[in-house]
Amino acid sequence: MQLIRIILVASFNHRFVKYTIITTVFFILFTTMGWGQQKKIVKLKPIKEKSSFHALVKLDTLQTMVELKSLIHNVQYELRYASKHNFTRKRLYPRNTNTTYLRLNPALALAKVAEDLKEKGLGIKIWDAYRPYRTTVRFWELIHDERFVANPSKGSGHNRGTSVDLTLVDLRTGKELAMPTPYDDFSTAAFHGATNIDDVRIRNRLLLRTTMEKFGFVALETEWWHYSWPGASAYEVLDLSFTALRSMIQ
Ligand SMILES: [Zn+2]
Repeated sequence: MQLIRIILVASFNHRFVKYTIITTVFFILFTTMGWGQQKKIVKLKPIKEKSSFHALVKLDTLQTMVELKSLIHNVQYELRYASKHNFTRKRLYPRNTNTTYLRLNPALALAKVAEDLKEKGLGIKIWDAYRPYRTTVRFWELIHDERFVANPSKGSGHNRGTSVDLTLVDLRTGKELAMPTPYDDFSTAAFHGATNIDDVRIRNRLLLRTTMEKFGFVALETEWWHYSWPGASAYEVLDLSFTALRSMIQ
């Protein structure tokens, strides 16, 4: 023991060894602390059980979730998170998911939007509406940047069934109207204020906005495709799968 102590003391007195030890200790502390923060996810407690959701709707019918095709017959779905064709390049919803939901009031308002557009020969295509809370957690694990994805400690309008990502389509051809950027393009060209864009795209972006606002939705200045229903905090965050919702509603 005495010998080991002498070797340790002698080594530590050696300047090079001393600095190497100190640097290594600091490196380990910094990396483990940083890594710990990155991985730590503060989660909400969403509604996961069908029985809890039933009880909630019984108390407050505005919490009802509505499958959008049941109200809007000409709506198109291209649910991007049910395929790899999205910014994460990963499929996040079950394959072939072909149902999407909003809370009762935003669903009714969206039906009015579709009715209004129909008179112009236009319709809507939904990229995403209700998003189970587990998917927001998954986004956070993958991206971890509040500029692009919601922080799970807050949940999002999508988790509450009050936000919708959509674009306009021509009802005759079924094709999308030209818009400033593709879906989930996180560049400044997706901002409502972006001006370095041709007139047709600006007009289409504005038509979507004015129609959505006419029926009560609120635009997000940084994403031309995202609209929210006001007062989202009145709605519980849900973590019910699409299958669970379908089994309750249809
Ligand atoms: Zn959105």
